[in-house]
Amino acid sequence: RGLLARIRQLDPQLNSFITVTEDLALEQAKAADARRAAGEEGALLGAPIAHKDLFCTEGVLTSCASKILDGFKAPYDATVVARLKAAGAVSLGKLNMDEFAMGSSNESSHYGAVKNPWALDRVPGGSSGGSAAAVAARLVPAATGTDTGGSIRQPAAFTNLTGIKPTYGRVSRWGMIAYASSLDQGGPLARTAEDCALMLGTIAGFDPKDSTSVDTPVDDYLTALAKPLAGLRIGLPKEYFGAGLDARIGAAVMAVVEELKKLGASVKEVSLPNMQHAIPAYYVIAPAEASSNLSRFDGVRFGYRCENPQNLEDLYKRSRAEGFGSEVKRRIMVGTYALSAGYYDAYYLKAQKIRRLIKNDFVAAFADVDVILGPTTPNPAWKLGEKNNDPVAQYLEDIYTITANLAGLPGLSMPAGFVDGLPVGVQLLAPYFQEARLLNVAHQYQ
Ligand code: GLN
Repeated sequence: RGLLARIRQLDPQLNSFITVTEDLALEQAKAADARRAAGEEGALLGAPIAHKDLFCTEGVLTSCASKILDGFKAPYDATVVARLKAAGAVSLGKLNMDEFAMGSSNESSHYGAVKNPWALDRVPGGSSGGSAAAVAARLVPAATGTDTGGSIRQPAAFTNLTGIKPTYGRVSRWGMIAYASSLDQGGPLARTAEDCALMLGTIAGFDPKDSTSVDTPVDDYLTALAKPLAGLRIGLPKEYFGAGLDARIGAAVMAVVEELKKLGASVKEVSLPNMQHAIPAYYVIAPAEASSNLSRFDGVRFGYRCENPQNLEDLYKRSRAEGFGSEVKRRIMVGTYALSAGYYDAYYLKAQKIRRLIKNDFVAAFADVDVILGPTTPNPAWKLGEKNNDPVAQYLEDIYTITANLAGLPGLSMPAGFVDGLPVGVQLLAPYFQEARLLNVAHQYQ
């Protein structure tokens, strides 16, 4: 109840929620109280959370922050939502995001931009910007997000939070509206690694409804937190500290490294030579998959439909023209072009080959180190509107995060201090399915 009042009071300034589900939340809270009274225990029982608005929630608007899903109420809960519900977490509503998770600033939302609680004239990062702003402003202690190219880690960095993108296949994508299916992963944003461990432990694990979900046991993330760091081998990729990085962020990251050394870690330089090709490869693969995934929004089955269609083709055309925003249209066009017969080999296939090289770079680097550490972003949060008319400038901000998605690796961002009063993050990457290690390092540091 206190939080619902806080949302009513503070969120008009931030715009982090698209839908607040007051009545449902009070109902769920009551049910959680009853379960507790009946002797049930569990850290998430009665814990308030909120979901990024691309997780399907039964009977509640699921908009992907797009006009094209206007009025769409999902008929079922996503697996992530269902698992948190079963653990007794109380959802307060649905959070703002970039339209269809395309963006790094949360400015492409049909429901308007989200503001960074640390500086209201700055972006909160994206695409899980609503999740980040809501947790940072203490409207909810934890939220779900999704990360296709950095959308959990980058907003976490911009708002002084901890966020983890799990290994591809660790968290079910069932009921998560697809952007780029081979890159998308859901995960939590929260204040601490401990809260992330709790959330991730609940949502991770095999789901027969998602054919890319991996059937390996889930580690006990909470127990893993306590492990001392003595003997930990950290790799610093030289490509992460080169031109383009704000030197003050570099210094903040190195200060974290010094602390980790005091806790017993050793440090060594590693190299990821193909990193320079990551942005072009990502911005071919992600739009290609998006152009295919978004073809289902045709004005017939879900959400928005144009007025007075003349015939079926007119209905498709105008519903899509009126329903999608400009960044989404740009991606659909780029993706369709990259997949078209004459260009497939030149763009899509080439990008897939780069993807393999990037993965191989990581496998080679992890032969010598346990975790790879670097900055989460090259710059702190920029001003609202600053990069709106220059999509490529915004794409370049993803340089440190997208490689983990291309390789399918787990990645975590945790607070690394402030630059000019703006939060910045340090990113940790680990070999496949070693989320426990990432949470452990973050927890020991915190
Ligand atoms: N900024 C990247 C993009 O726009 C990543 C977004 C994401 O991870 N969802 O594609």
